[in-house]
Amino acid sequence: MNQRYPTARPTDADRLEELDRDRLSDPDRRSDLDLPTELLNLPWIDPHNHAHTLSWGDRERYALSGCRSMMMVSSGYHWTPYKPVEASDVRFLWDDAINRRTAIERNHFFEAKLGLGIHTGVRIEDPDDLLAVMDDYCALEEVVAVGETGVTPGQHVERWDVDEQQAVVGAQMEIAADHDLPVLLHTPNTSGESKRDYRDGLGVTPGYEKNAGLGAEPVLDGENPALEAVERDVEAARNAGLDEERVVASHADANNTAYLMTETDCYLSFTIGHSWLIGVDAADVANAIDEYGPERIMIDTDCANVLRTDPYAVKRAIFELYRYGIDVDDIRTVVYENPRDVFGLAE
Ligand SMILES: [Zn+2]
Repeated sequence: MNQRYPTARPTDADRLEELDRDRLSDPDRRSDLDLPTELLNLPWIDPHNHAHTLSWGDRERYALSGCRSMMMVSSGYHWTPYKPVEASDVRFLWDDAINRRTAIERNHFFEAKLGLGIHTGVRIEDPDDLLAVMDDYCALEEVVAVGETGVTPGQHVERWDVDEQQAVVGAQMEIAADHDLPVLLHTPNTSGESKRDYRDGLGVTPGYEKNAGLGAEPVLDGENPALEAVERDVEAARNAGLDEERVVASHADANNTAYLMTETDCYLSFTIGHSWLIGVDAADVANAIDEYGPERIMIDTDCANVLRTDPYAVKRAIFELYRYGIDVDDIRTVVYENPRDVFGLAE
């Protein structure tokens, strides 16, 4: 072997040169791959997180890894202490996010817009009081979507009749349609199999700070309650006169992807900031892009302080999608252009 490098004995570098000279057609064995360095600086958008609940350090991680814009979602029972929840409790969450948003932008340089909604994971006693004021909130420039919301098969602590839930989801969709805002759906997941059960009393999901034992009996108990919930959401959108392309179904998974892609015009957002919980990662995103194209697909982190979540998830996925064979243009479509266009972010 001719040694080109002044190493004591031949290294891989010499052997790779030799392989390249032989012009091997197997790209795995070539050293001169044309790696897309633009991925290092590709701006990305996180269209679903709860970054206002994170630490300063976690928000800085978004900035350090190239997040250009995000939608901080302010809805959700995780942050309301009293159950059942009153309208004023949820309104406080909305107001808290509005109160802190500008300081977050000034500290971290990325754009931070808001999604406001009524989550159905816990029963709200007087949802009409929220719906009555929601119109004024949706008129705000910083509010770019309604949500997250969507029919939930089972509540925390106390059940919420499924038709009542659907009515509240539909009413929010009507307000969204009036304001030409998209709606972010929280679609229920069918989580991956765990290898082993945890000790009694320690919760089913360490990594999720929730008293899981306080779950109420489900209100949907058919064959596939998670999918039935999404079908009800789509029905609610149709009844509300909200265009399906203004609906983004977050937490897309194997249970709802085919339905949403083939029977609706909704967008799908794959939540990959807590893959350990819902079992969805960049491989699922790549498979969906292969099967359906990138036009209606996004990625979000859903990072929140009550969960073990990863603010770097989208940045990691950008490289992982490329490794899985997805083109740079399609990656840009999924992590930047689609959320930009649907939510009006980073304009
Ligand atoms: Zn969320």
